[in-house]
Amino acid sequence: MDPLRKFQKRFHKPKFNGIDKIIYLCGNSLGLQPIDTYDYVNKEINNWKNLGVDGHFSSERPWVTYHENLTNYTAEIVGSLNSEVVVMNSLSVNLHLLMISFYKPKNLKRKILIEQNSFPSDQFVVQSQLKYHNKDPKKDLLFLPSLDNNGLTSTDQIISFIKKYHDQISLILIGGVNYYTGQAFDIKAITKIAQEFDCIVGLDLAHAVGNIKLSLHDWGVDFAAWCGYKYLNGGPGCPSGIFIHEKHLKNKSITRFEGWWGQKKSIRFKPNMEFSAEPNAEAWQLSNPPILSMAPLISSLRIFHESGLSALRNKSIMLTGYLEFLLSEQLNKHIKIITPKEKDQRGCQLSIILKKSSHNIVMNLREHGVIIDWRDPNVMRVAPVPLYNTYEDCYKFVNILSDIFKINHSR
Ligand SMILES: *Cc1c(COP(=O)(O)O)cnc(C)c1O
Repeated sequence: MDPLRKFQKRFHKPKFNGIDKIIYLCGNSLGLQPIDTYDYVNKEINNWKNLGVDGHFSSERPWVTYHENLTNYTAEIVGSLNSEVVVMNSLSVNLHLLMISFYKPKNLKRKILIEQNSFPSDQFVVQSQLKYHNKDPKKDLLFLPSLDNNGLTSTDQIISFIKKYHDQISLILIGGVNYYTGQAFDIKAITKIAQEFDCIVGLDLAHAVGNIKLSLHDWGVDFAAWCGYKYLNGGPGCPSGIFIHEKHLKNKSITRFEGWWGQKKSIRFKPNMEFSAEPNAEAWQLSNPPILSMAPLISSLRIFHESGLSALRNKSIMLTGYLEFLLSEQLNKHIKIITPKEKDQRGCQLSIILKKSSHNIVMNLREHGVIIDWRDPNVMRVAPVPLYNTYEDCYKFVNILSDIFKINHSR
């Protein structure tokens, strides 16, 4: 028996082309909508309609403290203290705000180390931060060494790289799981070695959060940010989460960009007060948050809380293992999986290289009701999500893909 089976019914499945049994393997890009989301959003639409400005203080979940409804659930998912997390803004914005606080280049120790094949937005974020500090992205941006030209790497390689270049590295900014290869990094080991050499460790957890188990507090990670709309199912443009380790929260010398939502609640609405930060990650908030975009995230994180991350991860390992097994049994001739085989080196996503590139494959799959993601030149990213995907989804997907290869081949 699959104890998580009941959660499939808590999500809407998209419908198109008159097909209502869609096989949705794209939760790594945009998670599906929980059935409850409608009620959560509707409630706030109605509060605005019926209460006007009083919604800030006298609705069931007052808007002034609305983000606090997410704190417990978020801390559970990333393995942190409640004081270390807050949901605000969007991911790229948050990476900038965190780097303003934590990227402090000094003389030679001024470079930023990122992964190969990092997400385009992350590259623009670090390049522009370097330029902002009058550094040269061509010289001051370092890339993790890789084993092959797909950008896969190993913990040993990363550790020796840090040992070799630590006197030049100020900040390491890597994904928890690389969006392209699906490789999960050993964050605990990387953080340990980096901090021995006085390098700050920041994480972009867009593809890790809600996907693999995280213990950001215990691992001692300095800061992290992620988005709410991929595995967390918060809907398009859903706000992002940030983590700042407790050790920094007490450090008064850390500078940040500030706004009224970071001001202590007791004096937030008082005029002419000096800024006095909330004694937690909330100090990094600038503006009052988008309530209508946060409502879906509450509905979704409640599901994570109910199902439990360990159970989800266990199912995820089996589901992805099953998909990998079927793919290699049936399609070895046509494809190569680049995501590592070891379960602690990946989440649920498999990145699949087509030996003969074919953009048509995405359209062919859609005609059969399968939704996957494509990255040029020839990578399919496929993510069976343990909350709403099934073993049957994996089975049908591989059969459909296999038929498509047969037909395309016999043409
Ligand atoms: C999805 C994703 C983003 C998206 O950034 P937004 O600011 O939310 O648009 C950034 N970085 C990574 C690694 C991602 O996977």
